[in-house]
Amino acid sequence: MKKIDILGVLIDHVTMEEAVKKAEDFIKEPGSRMIFTPNSEIVMLAYQDPSFCALLNRADMVIADGIGVVYASKILKAPLPERVAGFDLASRLIEKAGEGQYSIYFFGGKPGVAEQATENLQKKYPSLRVVGCQDGYFDSAKEQAIIEDIKAKQPDILFVCLGAPKQERWIAEHKDALGAGLVLGVGGSLDVWAGVVERAPEAYQKAGLEWLYRLKKQPSRFFRMLALPKFALTVLFKGKRVTK
Ligand code: UDP
Repeated sequence: MKKIDILGVLIDHVTMEEAVKKAEDFIKEPGSRMIFTPNSEIVMLAYQDPSFCALLNRADMVIADGIGVVYASKILKAPLPERVAGFDLASRLIEKAGEGQYSIYFFGGKPGVAEQATENLQKKYPSLRVVGCQDGYFDSAKEQAIIEDIKAKQPDILFVCLGAPKQERWIAEHKDALGAGLVLGVGGSLDVWAGVVERAPEAYQKAGLEWLYRLKKQPSRFFRMLALPKFALTVLFKGKRVTK
């Protein structure tokens, strides 16, 4: 798979359709695979922290979650085909799981959120097999129990929703001990499936303004979002045009 280097993070040159197909291949193949879904903030973090950048690049697939990453690829004259939002990829995989193809496990969010997401999704997909739910607030004793539970349930797909960069670090550290076919880090997705947080309307998504909608709804994100102009300037002045 061709990869586009955005400030050191190697993003897969894939469309949503290709990403879904690749993810399904990962589930069918032996071993455990991981998919990361960085937006501009996370790419910027990786630029500032080479060990985190190396960790992201260990993933089996890295998709461009944010429109900023796609714009950056255009500035670098190595355009990515489209934005592949982590939430959308995860939702497509849930749809497949809803046909009875794969078992899933939800890990993350505040207590009760994974269960609420399960209830909502099972209304939509009655055959959806959710083999486990765990909230994302844990101490080290509970963490071991979570790992044991995932190992015992052997899900085809494990969604880890601890927010970035915590979820990527957690996945990279524990993936091999979990026995899940595919592990994805998909941030606030559980909150959306649970109905706790609203996804931006399609008009915002199409206009590449989902970040603005999230800022409007959650003004506390303001300081995190200061990474965005920094990201744009860094791409303009430091970005190299590299395709791997
Ligand atoms: N979260 C969690 N454990 C933590 C910190 C955060 O489970 O220790 C959850 C939080 O409840 C929320 C998600 O991680 O559901 C982070 O959502 P956010 O929208 O910030 O995701 P990001 O933009 O980082 O992908």
